[in-house]
Amino acid sequence: MGLIGGLRGIVGAGLRFALPPRCPGCGVITPEMHQFCLDCWSALDFLGDPQCVRCGAPFEVDPGPGASCGACHADPPAFDSMRAAVAYGPIARALALKLKYVRRPGIAHTMAAQMRRHLPDGESRLVVPVPLHRWRIWRRGYNQSTLMARAVARGTSHVLAFETLVRTRATPSLRGLGPDQRAKTVRGAFAVRDRSAVKGRAVLLVDDVYTTGATAHACARALKRAGATRVDLICWARVVRDEDVAR
Ligand SMILES: [Zn+2]
Ligand SMILES: [Zn+2]
Repeated sequence: MGLIGGLRGIVGAGLRFALPPRCPGCGVITPEMHQFCLDCWSALDFLGDPQCVRCGAPFEVDPGPGASCGACHADPPAFDSMRAAVAYGPIARALALKLKYVRRPGIAHTMAAQMRRHLPDGESRLVVPVPLHRWRIWRRGYNQSTLMARAVARGTSHVLAFETLVRTRATPSLRGLGPDQRAKTVRGAFAVRDRSAVKGRAVLLVDDVYTTGATAHACARALKRAGATRVDLICWARVVRDEDVAR
C-alpha cells in the first residue's frame, strides 16, 4: 500500500467512524449498511404469493397458480406483470421520499436488494426507468427511478437503457387524483426515442411507487408500440389499500 492508499485507508476508516450505518427507515444506528432496524423491518409488509399474476395485487385466499385479479381480468394492463417489494405504508413511503428529494444512492441499493427478489427469470432484459421530464431532471438533478434501475441491474446480465424511453411533456403531479384522472393526465406522455433498441426486446420497467398503474400503463403502451416483446414492471412499493391512492 502506497502513501495514497494508506491515506485513503485512514480517511475511509475515519468516515466509517464518523458515519455509522443507519436504518434507512428511521435513522437509528444499525450494525450493517443497508439494513433496517428490527422495528422498521417488522413494520414493512413484504409482498409475495399469493398475488395476481399480472398486477401483483395480494390475494387474501390463494386461488392457485396463474390467477389474475378481477380488475386485470376485466381490463388487462398494458404491461405483462408488475411486482413490488413492499406494500405502501409509512416506512416504504419514507424511503421513497428520501430517494426522491435527498440524493441518496445508498437508499436505492437498500430498495433494490428487496426488489431483486422479484426479478423475472430467463432472458437478459433491457432495464428502463420510468422517465422524468427533462425540466424536472434539471430542477432535481437526477431521476430517482434511474438510481433504482442502476442498483437493480448491478451485478446482473440485464442491460441498462436510460435514454430510450422519454417523457415528451411535463405532467402535473398525480397526487390526490383518482384513477381516471391519473390515466388521462399521463396518456401519450411517453415515447420511445430509439425504437431499434427496443424492438424484439423484453423490457424491465423500473418505478418507485405503483399507485393505480396509470404511469406504468402509459410507459408499457409506448414500449409495446415500439416492438417490445414483454414489459415487466418492478417497483419498490405498491399501494394496496384504496385510501393510499390519494397520497
Ligand atoms: Zn428503523
Ligand atoms: Zn391484477
